[in-house]
Amino acid sequence: MKAKIFIVEDEPSIVTLVKYNLEKEDFKVFFSHNGEEGLKEIKKNEPDLVLLDWMLPDLSGIEICKALKKDPKFKNLPIIMLTAKNQDEDKVLGLNTGADDYLSKPFSHTELIARVNALLRRSKPSISEDVVTFGDLKIDRLQRKVFRGVVEIDLGPTEYKLIDFFIKNPTRVYSREQLLENIWTSNVYVETRTVDVHIRRLRQAINIPDTKKLIRTVRSAGYALDND
Ligand code: CA
Repeated sequence: MKAKIFIVEDEPSIVTLVKYNLEKEDFKVFFSHNGEEGLKEIKKNEPDLVLLDWMLPDLSGIEICKALKKDPKFKNLPIIMLTAKNQDEDKVLGLNTGADDYLSKPFSHTELIARVNALLRRSKPSISEDVVTFGDLKIDRLQRKVFRGVVEIDLGPTEYKLIDFFIKNPTRVYSREQLLENIWTSNVYVETRTVDVHIRRLRQAINIPDTKKLIRTVRSAGYALDND
């Protein structure tokens, strides 16, 4: 599972196509067809990257971009503007709003994926790097292997997804609901206590003797990848 991407675009056919192509690449995709709602949903969903249409019927892409960039919590959120305009002055204007990149419609999907990956690599290495670490914890994503120091840890598929998700934002606390939403497939009904079961298994596996205990429980809030 890769990064979470939010699309704000009023043309349903573009959303459908972009969503399809991103999901094929393993991205988790959310979208909105209008600006006001899009901005609200972005703040709620906290995506890793936003694809933002320039011309929207209500709040424009530029206004959304500006609103996000002046919010301390979202000022580093990578944004790619999608637009039908392609004159240079518009490009400059787009980049002055704080957008990180720019794609003129129609764009090829190979181009879109390449830009998304490049921007994610730049802004959030922990999402896209092949090898990520937290202290002596190491995840090799190409080999799908987890280590504490030099010791390889054997994890089930759900525990692997959990640790790979946590390491994208070390020390950040996630509620059980957030973990369910991000790790389990959305159409399967899972109870929140299932999360506890998998967290317990994950802890048992990664907290080997002579290592710091990882995965902190934050009472009435959830779990974090942190020293316990
Ligand atoms: Ca539009």
